[in-house]
Amino acid sequence: MMLSQGAAAGQSAGIQMKCLYCGLPDCNLEKIYKRTGTGPKYICFYCEFTERFTVVDLAKKIGVSSTYLKSQIENMEFFKTFYIERGIDVNNAPLGYLELEICGLCSMPITRNTSAEDHNSTAMHSSGLIKKCNKGCGRYIWIMSLHEQYCKKSCEYEGCKKKYDRTDVHFEKDHKPFFCPIVGCDKGFPPDNIEQICTHIVKTHLLHTVQSFLRRKSLKLWKTSLTM
Ligand SMILES: [Zn+2]
Ligand SMILES: [Zn+2]
Ligand SMILES: [Zn+2]
Ligand SMILES: [Zn+2]
Ligand SMILES: [Zn+2]
Repeated sequence: MMLSQGAAAGQSAGIQMKCLYCGLPDCNLEKIYKRTGTGPKYICFYCEFTERFTVVDLAKKIGVSSTYLKSQIENMEFFKTFYIERGIDVNNAPLGYLELEICGLCSMPITRNTSAEDHNSTAMHSSGLIKKCNKGCGRYIWIMSLHEQYCKKSCEYEGCKKKYDRTDVHFEKDHKPFFCPIVGCDKGFPPDNIEQICTHIVKTHLLHTVQSFLRRKSLKLWKTSLTM
């Protein structure tokens, strides 16, 4: 199923599609989308294994144990309508595939574990034009831009919604948010709302295959019909 659909995706419109993660053209590409509707991007058969973002990965990102997170996720509304089933394999079942950081100069995705120096040379940005933002967001930015001057974290407490410097006393005195751990994200959440944090990461920062939606939707319908 995945192979045949992937092959079609790789050849569409005669344009050479490439895997978002390894950058290689491959005949086994599968389309992946953000929940927000953006895409498609493509993932190859090999990266589909290496890039799987599982419950274990999500737990590591937010600093809780995977056993605890699994028990929480099983009761979260968002995941019930999505695809988490009781007994999920926390090590292997993909929640999606984590987005890549985007270069602030050429807007190209930067493959994982690539340093700013490496990107500068591969993208031929002459004399080190890109560096990592050191104001807390971790984005690859163009050093001539004003980014760091405006790099803020946003406070998502009800009724607050303000943007501050990461080091602002607001985060010490008034609100102590849990900042989204994904590089480049400025969102902070009330730390006790693990559902909001998980939902945000999966909806905002992961890409998903269409098949996973369809399969799970029909599975859900099928289960509903069984219980009626
Ligand atoms: Zn790949
Ligand atoms: Zn670039
Ligand atoms: Zn920044
Ligand atoms: Zn606040
Ligand atoms: Zn985020």
